[in-house]
Amino acid sequence: MALVNENYLKLPEYYFFDEIEQKINAHKVIKPGANIIRLGLGDVSQPLAPSAVNAMQEALEEMRQAETFHGYGPEVGYKFLINKIIKNDYNSRGVNLSTDEVFISAGSKSDVGNIGHIFGRDNIIGITDPVYPVYENAAIMGGRSGYLNDDNLWSNIVYIPCRAQNGFIPELPQEKVDIIYLCYPNNPTGIALNKTQLKKWVDYALANHAIIIYDGAYCSFIQDKDIPHSIYEIKGAKKCAIEIRSFSKTAGFTGLRCSYTVVPHDIVGFTLYGEAVEMNKLWNRRITTYYNGTNYIVQRGAEAIYSPQGQKEIQTNIEYYLKNTAIIRNTLSEAGFTVYGGVNSPHVWVKTPYNMPSWRFFQQLLYDTDVVCTPGAGFGAGGEGYFRVTGFNSRENTLEAMDRIRHWV
Ligand SMILES: *Cc1c(COP(=O)(O)O)cnc(C)c1O
Repeated sequence: MALVNENYLKLPEYYFFDEIEQKINAHKVIKPGANIIRLGLGDVSQPLAPSAVNAMQEALEEMRQAETFHGYGPEVGYKFLINKIIKNDYNSRGVNLSTDEVFISAGSKSDVGNIGHIFGRDNIIGITDPVYPVYENAAIMGGRSGYLNDDNLWSNIVYIPCRAQNGFIPELPQEKVDIIYLCYPNNPTGIALNKTQLKKWVDYALANHAIIIYDGAYCSFIQDKDIPHSIYEIKGAKKCAIEIRSFSKTAGFTGLRCSYTVVPHDIVGFTLYGEAVEMNKLWNRRITTYYNGTNYIVQRGAEAIYSPQGQKEIQTNIEYYLKNTAIIRNTLSEAGFTVYGGVNSPHVWVKTPYNMPSWRFFQQLLYDTDVVCTPGAGFGAGGEGYFRVTGFNSRENTLEAMDRIRHWV
């Protein structure tokens, strides 16, 4: 008799983003022909940088000839891409990494979940609240969540509150945590941490032998000078932080899939006997056993964004999204909403009027204006009373949606 992994049964029946889709579909039935504008989903809208397209076309041509054909590549990624990442994303910010500390993968969402494989079951997981729902789901599916208590919270997960009164900056937990997920600039609040704020977490991790999983999916959107792009800009972080980054939002690779995970040699975990083990070794073993590498063509595409022309092209897209975000911020704040984030991030985090529950606000906005936002409740208990709007749609749609909201309020 085959038994199931019962951890999967602990998950909520629905995935948050599926529920939003269902509500949009219901709206289409009620209002056929409505011109729906989606300012909710976290996907990009602008086409791929031409440099990346050209590089991938060339790479595809190589596959046509036996002499230049590429079969299985290195599971951990090609050196040509890893070297570009180290030079452009790290050396340029004073961080040194060796090539075997960077692992190329096919998306940071999967790595956020997969990284759990190299940790023991009994770690206490710290996640900020509100946050990207994948961290909590991964902890549940990995059997690390414990039991659900009366407040609908998991016993082995420490929820680190981020609230308006402290500017959505996370405070160090009172309880001991072993693995901490941090995502900055944050999804959904759009808030970034400066060096002093991030250093507190690095110091905490070092003092407690904890490991930080740092999700830097939005690092390319950082504008302010005092905001670190990488956690390794903080002294000591190479001893306690795994950084996960993606080409998805940076370069429009959401449909192509390419990301990377940095696991420095200095990070160790412990056996029950107190023996220190290099996490890099375990992650390398995991990748080489379960993965056969991100495809060659896509890695050539990712490499091309580091050329001067490629950089110019992706920068143009990022500025385009940030301009949309600024339009959203200004319009909503002039319309009387309280807005957060959206400066170093494409996400704007907004208080619902009259403390309206976020799903009710979502429904009302959709019904009255055909504009889709993301209800904050989907990001955790701390997201209730807020909604998220992103700058990822086209300029035209963003302006149109803002017009509708201005007339609506
Ligand atoms: C979009 C996003 C990612 C990127 O996921 P990919 O799988 O690389 O496309 C990672 N983390 C957060 C918080 C995100 O919003």
